[in-house]
Amino acid sequence: MPIQRLKPKLGTISSALQTITPGSWRTPDHNTSSTKRGYGYRWQKAREGYLRKHPLCRYCEREGRITAATVVDHIVAHQGDDTLFWDSTNWQPLCKPCHDSTKQREERDHELPVTDTPTDKAWTVV
Ligand SMILES: [Zn+2]
Repeated sequence: MPIQRLKPKLGTISSALQTITPGSWRTPDHNTSSTKRGYGYRWQKAREGYLRKHPLCRYCEREGRITAATVVDHIVAHQGDDTLFWDSTNWQPLCKPCHDSTKQREERDHELPVTDTPTDKAWTVV
Protein backbone atom coordinates (compact mmCIF):
# COMPACT_ATOMS: atom_id res chain seq x y z
CA MET A 1 0.00 0.00 0.00
CA PRO A 2 2.63 2.64 0.88
CA ILE A 3 4.62 1.70 -2.20
CA GLN A 4 1.63 2.28 -4.48
CA ARG A 5 1.14 5.72 -2.99
CA LEU A 6 4.81 6.57 -3.22
CA LYS A 7 5.20 5.88 -6.93
CA PRO A 8 2.95 8.57 -8.40
CA LYS A 9 4.48 11.07 -6.01
CA LEU A 10 7.95 10.32 -7.27
CA GLY A 11 6.65 10.76 -10.77
CA THR A 12 5.37 14.22 -9.99
CA ILE A 13 8.57 15.26 -8.28
CA SER A 14 10.87 14.14 -11.06
CA SER A 15 8.78 15.76 -13.78
CA ALA A 16 8.64 18.96 -11.78
CA LEU A 17 12.41 18.90 -11.48
CA GLN A 18 12.73 18.37 -15.20
CA THR A 19 10.67 21.43 -16.00
CA ILE A 20 12.56 23.62 -13.57
CA THR A 21 16.11 22.60 -14.41
CA PRO A 22 16.58 23.87 -18.01
CA GLY A 23 15.67 27.48 -17.21
CA SER A 24 17.15 27.88 -13.79
CA TRP A 25 20.80 27.19 -14.61
CA ARG A 26 20.93 29.82 -17.29
CA THR A 27 20.31 33.09 -15.54
CA PRO A 28 18.22 34.36 -12.66
CA ASP A 29 16.96 37.22 -14.82
CA HIS A 30 14.02 35.56 -16.60
CA ASN A 31 12.77 38.65 -18.38
CA THR A 32 16.06 39.42 -20.06
CA SER A 33 16.80 35.86 -21.04
CA SER A 34 13.40 35.16 -22.58
CA THR A 35 13.47 38.43 -24.52
CA LYS A 36 16.93 37.67 -25.78
CA ARG A 37 15.97 34.14 -26.77
CA GLY A 38 12.89 35.34 -28.65
CA TYR A 39 14.85 38.09 -30.37
CA GLY A 40 17.59 35.68 -31.31
CA TYR A 41 15.24 33.12 -32.78
CA ARG A 42 13.29 35.70 -34.74
CA TRP A 43 16.49 37.22 -36.06
CA GLN A 44 17.88 33.82 -36.99
CA LYS A 45 14.80 33.13 -39.11
CA ALA A 46 14.82 36.58 -40.71
CA ARG A 47 18.53 36.27 -41.41
CA GLU A 48 18.14 32.84 -43.01
CA GLY A 49 15.37 34.07 -45.29
CA TYR A 50 17.32 37.17 -46.25
CA LEU A 51 20.49 35.25 -47.09
CA ARG A 52 18.46 32.86 -49.22
CA LYS A 53 17.30 35.81 -51.31
CA HIS A 54 20.64 37.62 -51.19
CA PRO A 55 23.25 34.87 -51.15
CA LEU A 56 26.26 36.94 -52.27
CA CYS A 57 28.45 39.31 -50.32
CA ARG A 58 27.68 42.85 -51.49
CA TYR A 59 31.16 44.23 -50.91
CA CYS A 60 32.88 41.38 -52.69
CA GLU A 61 30.41 41.65 -55.56
CA ARG A 62 31.25 45.33 -55.89
CA GLU A 63 34.87 44.35 -56.40
CA GLY A 64 34.00 41.62 -58.87
CA ARG A 65 34.39 38.76 -56.44
CA ILE A 66 31.71 36.15 -55.94
CA THR A 67 31.60 35.25 -52.28
CA ALA A 68 28.80 33.64 -50.34
CA ALA A 69 27.32 35.93 -47.74
CA THR A 70 27.04 34.49 -44.28
CA VAL A 71 26.24 37.63 -42.33
CA VAL A 72 23.36 40.08 -42.52
CA ASP A 73 24.83 43.44 -41.68
CA HIS A 74 22.97 46.55 -40.63
CA ILE A 75 23.96 49.37 -42.98
CA VAL A 76 23.03 51.95 -40.37
CA ALA A 77 24.10 50.72 -36.96
CA HIS A 78 20.88 49.94 -35.11
CA GLN A 79 22.38 50.41 -31.66
CA GLY A 80 19.41 48.74 -30.09
CA ASP A 81 16.83 50.58 -32.21
CA ASP A 82 14.13 48.03 -33.06
CA THR A 83 12.92 49.84 -36.16
CA LEU A 84 16.39 49.99 -37.68
CA PHE A 85 17.13 46.47 -36.57
CA TRP A 86 14.13 44.89 -38.32
CA ASP A 87 14.07 47.17 -41.38
CA SER A 88 15.23 44.88 -44.18
CA THR A 89 16.10 47.87 -46.37
CA ASN A 90 18.78 48.56 -43.77
CA TRP A 91 20.28 45.10 -44.26
CA GLN A 92 23.04 43.97 -46.56
CA PRO A 93 24.48 40.53 -47.17
CA LEU A 94 28.17 40.27 -46.31
CA CYS A 95 30.76 37.57 -45.95
CA LYS A 96 32.44 37.26 -42.58
CA PRO A 97 35.76 38.92 -43.52
CA CYS A 98 33.95 41.93 -45.05
CA HIS A 99 31.60 42.15 -42.11
CA ASP A 100 34.40 42.03 -39.61
CA SER A 101 36.49 44.67 -41.35
CA THR A 102 33.48 46.94 -41.91
CA LYS A 103 32.42 46.55 -38.35
CA GLN A 104 35.87 47.37 -37.08
CA ARG A 105 36.05 50.45 -39.25
CA GLU A 106 32.59 51.59 -38.19
CA GLU A 107 33.43 51.13 -34.56
CA ARG A 108 36.55 53.21 -35.02
CA ASP A 109 34.62 55.89 -36.92
CA HIS A 110 31.91 56.20 -34.33
CA GLU A 111 34.31 55.72 -31.46
CA LEU A 112 31.87 53.50 -29.69
CA PRO A 113 32.76 52.74 -26.11
CA VAL A 114 34.30 49.32 -26.09
CA THR A 115 32.40 47.22 -23.64
CA ASP A 116 32.51 43.54 -23.01
CA THR A 117 29.89 42.15 -25.37
CA PRO A 118 28.28 38.98 -24.11
CA THR A 119 29.05 36.11 -26.45
CA ASP A 120 25.38 35.35 -27.10
CA LYS A 121 25.00 38.86 -28.48
CA ALA A 122 27.75 38.34 -30.97
CA TRP A 123 25.63 36.17 -33.21
CA THR A 124 22.31 37.79 -32.40
CA VAL A 125 23.21 41.31 -33.33
CA VAL A 126 25.47 41.63 -36.31
ZN1 LIG B 1 32.90 39.93 -48.80
